[in-house]
Amino acid sequence: MTTAYAELIAHRQQTATLASVNAVLGWDQETYMPPAAAAHRAEQAAAIATLVHERSTSPKVGDWLSACERDRDLTGDHEGEPAANLREMRRDYDLATKLPTELVAEIARTTSQAQQAWKTAREHSDFAKFAPWLEKVVALMRRKAECYGVPAGGELYDALLNEYEPGMTARELDAIFTPLRPRLAGLVASIVKSPKKPDPRLLELKGPEAGQHAFGLAVLRQMGFDLSAGRLDTTAHPFCTELGPRDTRLTTRYTTDSFLEPLYGTMHEAGHGLYEQGLPKTTRWGEPLGEAISLGIHESQSRMWENFVGRSRAFWTWALPVAREHLKPLLDGTSIDELYGAANWVEPSFIRVEADEATYNLHIMLRFQIERELIAGRLPVSSLPATWNRLFKEFLGLDVPDDRRGCLQDVHWSFGLMGYFPTYTLGNLYAAQFWEKINTDIPDLDARHARGDFASLKHWLNTHIHTHGKRYRAGDLCRRVTGKPLSADPLLRHLEGKLKPIYGV
Ligand code: ZN
Repeated sequence: MTTAYAELIAHRQQTATLASVNAVLGWDQETYMPPAAAAHRAEQAAAIATLVHERSTSPKVGDWLSACERDRDLTGDHEGEPAANLREMRRDYDLATKLPTELVAEIARTTSQAQQAWKTAREHSDFAKFAPWLEKVVALMRRKAECYGVPAGGELYDALLNEYEPGMTARELDAIFTPLRPRLAGLVASIVKSPKKPDPRLLELKGPEAGQHAFGLAVLRQMGFDLSAGRLDTTAHPFCTELGPRDTRLTTRYTTDSFLEPLYGTMHEAGHGLYEQGLPKTTRWGEPLGEAISLGIHESQSRMWENFVGRSRAFWTWALPVAREHLKPLLDGTSIDELYGAANWVEPSFIRVEADEATYNLHIMLRFQIERELIAGRLPVSSLPATWNRLFKEFLGLDVPDDRRGCLQDVHWSFGLMGYFPTYTLGNLYAAQFWEKINTDIPDLDARHARGDFASLKHWLNTHIHTHGKRYRAGDLCRRVTGKPLSADPLLRHLEGKLKPIYGV
């Protein structure tokens, strides 16, 4: 290896270590930090973030990268080791340096005020209060996209999408979402009309928090999440964060109506956590080859454990006796099929974060359509509520009663997160496509899960997804693993195959 390459990697490792210090501070802030510590914590976080930013954008990095890129021995095999690392380090460097400092500062200032405006606007369900700020944010996002540069034949939105899902384009998303939407909407509509429903009373079974926590830990252990290199704590909003090569933190919350919500929150975050634990970080700390590919692939891991495993009859065959033990006497007299039905409750509702597995993607497709139009300049901000409500009726069949339950519900746009929403549905799509391949490779997967054997699934994911780090882009990984480009069909087959028998449609 050349000196430039060695220096580049060493520099990035140090930067990753500094960034992981900030992750510790962030985790503490969300879990155990006393409220009075907030002001100094903000100073600490900003100090480290500044160091990380300076190191990531240092001209030295640009020089090393250019030196490596001139060296054919390093860049020859595109998915080979130094080449894949260099490809991803170039991408990160360009993303970090292509924006003028003045624009970065203006985005930070504006989005911080926009968040405040959004909070007030949402509280009072008053879109007019947020509109001028959203106009500013959209204008800044358009400038940002212009600085990143539009890929050939693409549109401004692609440049934003690329931050979260490298290589994905609006046109490609459109090609997948367009056939998905009417079939999904049709399935949901037939479920709504069907008189056959699971027993809704099961959605209000709660049990004591200690029992729920113990049950959650039992599920984590069975999934193969390494609790000697991770923890489960409680927070207001569940998340998974990585504090270092052998330290993955998960959080969940128990302040809900049903024990099912925290369980699925825990399994979701554990899916993210298993990905983090499966990446080759101890040997490749700070290298792209030790890091997750994209938000979409990350989300495919969480959704797989939450929805494909956790909401299956096989899972409940194993989990019901375990849950009974921890939640006594809550589930006495409840059958596997009753729980399986409740876990797959489908009902159109206004709030995305509360949506079920089937309707969720319709919420995302609506947001994608709107933000794409906003960035293209085809949809004025003032028309947002009317457009939202019209699409909501079309996609989910409901009349939005107010903007609080409509276009003001998500924090993302006030943060300047545009191009982010599609990664949630991409996660479901990748999960479904991987799932079909896993079931071909392991034909008795269901029987194994019914016995509580999740090790073969974890091993498959470790081998086919996790171990590669960023060696392949998401689309390439999908083709490599499943033999096909990403498509809507596996997700539709999964949802129709599961939900039609439950609802008798
Ligand atoms: Zn997630």
